[in-house]
Amino acid sequence: MSTLPVPGGESRLRERMVYFGRSLFDRGLTAGSSGNISVRLDDGWLLTPTNACLGELDPARLAKLDWQGRHLSGDPPSKEAFLHRSMYEERQGAGAIVHLHSTHSAAVSCIDGLDPANCLPPLTAYYVMKIGRLPLVPYHRPGDSALGHAIRGLAGKHSAVLLANHGPVVSGTTLEAAVYATEELEETAKLFLLLRGTPISPLNRQQIDELKSVFQLDL
Ligand SMILES: [Zn+2]
Repeated sequence: MSTLPVPGGESRLRERMVYFGRSLFDRGLTAGSSGNISVRLDDGWLLTPTNACLGELDPARLAKLDWQGRHLSGDPPSKEAFLHRSMYEERQGAGAIVHLHSTHSAAVSCIDGLDPANCLPPLTAYYVMKIGRLPLVPYHRPGDSALGHAIRGLAGKHSAVLLANHGPVVSGTTLEAAVYATEELEETAKLFLLLRGTPISPLNRQQIDELKSVFQLDL
């Protein structure tokens, strides 16, 4: 698999994973040992360890893997490693991936009757710019490798997907971009839930086309 240059090097990225893990945990965006963060390196990728609390990561103990799935160093990787690997395989430009069980996104993922091609409306311009269209991946039990296959089928065209009855998987060109996009998704899910039952006026086709044109979005 081709790799991207990593600004700042591996040690800097390890520190940033710890920083963002604590930030997400401290703000209630992940609970217990749920959620995982990964970054692409020149010689493999880093992933948060299995059963690790994102608020208490140790930069030296992050799991390092190669693209064949071998565990090279650190603590054993998250059992959800295949979610990340499936998305990296389809998105050569992805430098980092965040997967959370964040409350509002997970709540939306449990709603009956969502559009599986795009399960949140375009409520704000920033949501359109950071997430765009959000497909819903059907429910799979934890560890089911068919979930990786389902993600690969969508990740070529989508930087983010929502796993039904589970939570979001969001990629970005950098760790910061992946974290901020995950937060934008969570905030939009919160708005969507706040507005349930209220007539809403999402961005219309013309407004979305204007964003696509001005910001060169690939939606
Ligand atoms: Zn999960």
